[in-house]
Amino acid sequence: SVELRDIHVSFGTLEVLRGVDLKVEQGKTTCVIGPSGSGKSTLLRCVNRLQEPDSGDLLLDGESVIQSDPDKLRQRVGMVFQHFNLFGHRTVLDNITLPLRSVKGLDKEEAAEIARARLADVGLADKAPYRPAALSGGQQQRVAIARALAMDPDVMLFDEATSALDPELVKGVLDLMAGLAERGLTLLVVTHEMGFARSVADEVAFMDRGKVVELGKPEALFDDPQSPRLQRFLSQVL
Ligand code: ATP
Ligand code: MG
Repeated sequence: SVELRDIHVSFGTLEVLRGVDLKVEQGKTTCVIGPSGSGKSTLLRCVNRLQEPDSGDLLLDGESVIQSDPDKLRQRVGMVFQHFNLFGHRTVLDNITLPLRSVKGLDKEEAAEIARARLADVGLADKAPYRPAALSGGQQQRVAIARALAMDPDVMLFDEATSALDPELVKGVLDLMAGLAERGLTLLVVTHEMGFARSVADEVAFMDRGKVVELGKPEALFDDPQSPRLQRFLSQVL
């Protein structure tokens, strides 16, 4: 499980997270929705401590990791970004093997074996020798997912993983993410894809102005929103 407790983050005088509590149980998927600027990305970044909170606690499997070695933490928390963040001058295979070698200390053959297996998982076994630029955006995002999965994380974070993709490429990536949820990975997913949130999430968190304003099962949140802010948000995006 992954849990945030009373997380606060400010940038100067701007309070971006104002006491966020959120827990994703082992093997479950929580989707985070909310307007632009509400703090969704900042929240995700707190989970692998790319952003250090001003106060609050972060727990993995019930144990506080807020003071632990951030590099160790990041081995347990995979993250997939909107813009893939692949190394452009390296092959697809290298993109996956390099972190396995540098972070996990695997030798070349071990790393390549894992990388090929994860590429096969995302349907891209044949793309191993290519540079990322030779792949479509959707394929590049699947490589980024394979790279994160290769580290065998306890939790996967997705920050608008399909927002930069051409519309016809979105479904392939969402289907892959849904498959990970079905396989029982623990996922925390920031998304604008309300259909995905409704069909895949165990719980949906609605954020507004630095707080989780509403949290619940997707049916409850989407069909019977309680707060006026969520009602207004849904009327704009659905
Ligand atoms: P979007 O849907 O547009 O991605 P978001 O919900 O992910 O929005 P965040 O990126 O978390 O929002 O940003 C929340 C607020 O914090 C915004 O007002 C943003 O400008 C501000 N912010 C984020 N990172 C920083 C930073 N490093 N320095 C200063 N302000 C920041
Ligand atoms: Mg964001």
